[in-house]
Order: sequence, then structure tokens, then C-alpha cells
Amino acid sequence: MRILLADDDSVTQRLLSRTLQIAGFDPVVVGDGLAAWERLQAEYFPILIVDWVMPGLDGPSLIRQVRKTTFSGYVYTILLTSRQAQDDRVDGLESGADDFLTKPVDLRELRARLAVASRIIQLETRLREANARLAYQASHDRLTDLFNRPTITEYAESELARMRRTGQSLSLALLDLDEFKAINDSYGHMAGDVALRHVGQRITSTVRPYDWVGRWGGEEFLIVLPAADMAQAFAVAERVRSSIAAEALSLDNEQQVTLTLSGGVTSSAGRDDVSVDTLFAEADKALYSAKHAGRNRIMCAEEATAAS
Ligand code: GH3
Ligand code: MG
Ligand code: MG
Repeated sequence: MRILLADDDSVTQRLLSRTLQIAGFDPVVVGDGLAAWERLQAEYFPILIVDWVMPGLDGPSLIRQVRKTTFSGYVYTILLTSRQAQDDRVDGLESGADDFLTKPVDLRELRARLAVASRIIQLETRLREANARLAYQASHDRLTDLFNRPTITEYAESELARMRRTGQSLSLALLDLDEFKAINDSYGHMAGDVALRHVGQRITSTVRPYDWVGRWGGEEFLIVLPAADMAQAFAVAERVRSSIAAEALSLDNEQQVTLTLSGGVTSSAGRDDVSVDTLFAEADKALYSAKHAGRNRIMCAEEATAAS
């Protein structure tokens, strides 16, 4: 574990850094608070040991600055002090220090306090990882790993607002697998799941890097295309459609499944006040028309409106 040690006294520097190394830590030593601050901005250190009195930025001021800043993880801080007064300790805690070490440093005590620091850091790391996992699970579809419906809806809303500010248009493509119930019925639900994952991956690899892909429902997928007009969105949806239709999916048992999908595309172009819900409804209506017209095709909302 990396430790940043800031102390202006070379004897303390040598003694502590040796002890830290022996205890299995990886210390980086700097001579004052400003140097420590620069180092902290360049890379993350889970543990910071700082002397109280240093030229430039003193220990408590450095810790205050650290507490105002977001790092990639928690920075556990230990304040070195030769001061014994109760008030000083309160000041130190109020600056945001987690612990104290009194100079001259007792090396056994240092190791014991570092064990506490490591425990806290490990707990915090585990908590942060668990939070990240939960956030991922809350925003993604389990089967396909695409964004789930609430999340892709949020992206569509914020992208529409962003496009309005920048004077560009947002387009949507809603894709639905054709006769998918028959795939499940003929090959089994597991094969159906494999097919859904396959289609999800194919869509993701077809869209532009800044497009969003979500699982809208059972066998429905939504692509949110910022800065795309109807023609561009149609082209993307059509590329997905043709690539799915062109190549049969091989199942584990070497059976070949031919999949096709239909899609409805719409765009906010030329309509400043159109809502996301209206766009969803238009894409859905265009999709319905594509199904009605014989499936395995993409239709635009204009065509959908013209046809009805
Ligand atoms: P259409 O061309 O009109 O869209 O016909 P369809 O059969 O695709 O449409 P329908 O809505 O009748 O059936 C959708 C099917 O999708 C039924 C359902 O079992 C299947 N499905 C939905 N979610 C999943 C899933 O997570 N896994 C599997 N294997 N199948 C799913
Ligand atoms: Mg379907
Ligand atoms: Mg459907």
C-alpha cells in the first residue's frame, strides 16, 4: 500500500520511511506541505502521514485541503506532532485528521496505527466496490449488459435537453426482434437468451461510440443517437438490421438460427419543443408499421405518419 509522508526533518524522513518499508508499505517522501499537495493531485495515496509544523503549508492546512477534495478513494491521514496540549489535538481532529502520532515516533505504535489505517482503507475500498457494483446492476440489464429501460430513458431525456441547447437533433431507433416467440418455442428459452445477447452485442458494435444502447423490453432495443438526423439514424438502424439478417446465429448444439428484426426511427429535427415521450411514441408507431409492412425492415416516423 502506498503512503505519502510529508516531513521537513530528514532524520524523521529516513527513520519513518525505513520503518514503513519494513512493515510492507511503499512510502513516498516529500519535504513540505506544498510538495505533498502536488503529489496528491498527481496520484492517489490511501494513507497520508504529515508533520504538523512544515514550511509553506502546515499539516492541518494540508489535511483541510485534502478533505475538500475528491480523490479516487479515501485518504486516511495521520498527523505527526510533538505537541501534547489537548487543544492542539482538537485542532488537529477538526482539520480532518484521522489519527495522531506523537514525536519522537514509537515504531511499534506506528505499525499498530498503520494496521488500523489499512483496515479502514480496505473497508472503504470494499464499500466503494460494492457501491459501484450496485450502481451497475441498478442501471444495466442483467441478460444483455445493456442499459436498462429507466437508465436509457434518462439518457434520452438528458441528451434531448443537450441537443436543444446546442441546436442539434436527437434521434431514436426502436428495434424489435421478429417472431421471437417462435425462436423460443423452437429452440428453447436458453437459446432465446443467447440470441438476445448476440443482438445486443451486434447493436453495440454497430452504433457510433457516443450513441446509447438499452434494452427497452423483452426483445426490444432502443438506440439513442445524439447529433443524428433521421437519415443518419435510419442508416444506423438499417446497418444493424442487415447485419443481423445476413448471418445466422450458431447455437452450442450447432443449430443455426436466423434472426431478423424490425425498427422504427424518429428524430427531433425541426421540432424544438418535442418531448421524449412523444419521440418514444413515434418510434413505437413506426416500428408497428414496419411489422405491419412485413417485418425485417426499418421505417421512419414520417413514413409511419404518411402510411397511416
Ligand atoms: P413480432 O414479430 O410481432 O414482434 O413477434 P414476437 O414473437 O417477437 O412478439 P411477441 O411480443 O409475441 O413475443 C415476444 C417474445 O419475446 C415472447 C417472450 O417469450 C420473448 N422474450 C421476452 N423476453 C425474453 C427473454 O428475456 N428471454 C427469452 N428467451 N425470451 C424473451
Ligand atoms: Mg418481437
Ligand atoms: Mg415486442
